[in-house]
Amino acid sequence: MPEHVTTSEANTVAVARDLAVGLRAGDVVLLSGDLGAGKTAFVRGLAEGLGIDPEEVSSPTFTLVHEYRGPRQTLYHVDLYRLEKAATEDLGLEELGAEGGVLAIEWPDRLTHDLPGALRVNIDIVDDDTRRITVTGAG
Ligand code: ADP
Ligand code: MG
Repeated sequence: MPEHVTTSEANTVAVARDLAVGLRAGDVVLLSGDLGAGKTAFVRGLAEGLGIDPEEVSSPTFTLVHEYRGPRQTLYHVDLYRLEKAATEDLGLEELGAEGGVLAIEWPDRLTHDLPGALRVNIDIVDDDTRRITVTGAG
């Protein structure tokens, strides 16, 4: 599923929900796109697909990592927006991902290290309600 054009937030959530079904423990999803593109909405869909109440998902503000426990695996949600280039080792992100959870990272350009094997989701704003979602990577 390389490219999706969505016309509502609910649409984007649904794309993410479908994608989440194929996620396994240790998978990393990198979410790029401008402010307001729908990265957090996408994470809400990932949560739903993992059996987690999507209302638990919010924009991380001062907490760097949010942890949502699901029936099968834990979803770790990280928003690096407020960080300058961050050393991933210092944040322990790789450890988190390996810990039997799924790791979703907003603003991955802040990372100094590549996370090999990560799935890349890029969301482009086409107009007010339209987004182009491109999924690449993982393999
Ligand atoms: P980000 O985390 O990328 O900054 P958010 O998910 O917090 O973005 O917000 C996305 C905003 O864009 C929300 O207000 C949402 O309602 C709106 N929106 C409009 N159309 C879409 C769409 N097709 N997909 C996702 N969000 C959309
Ligand atoms: Mg966000």
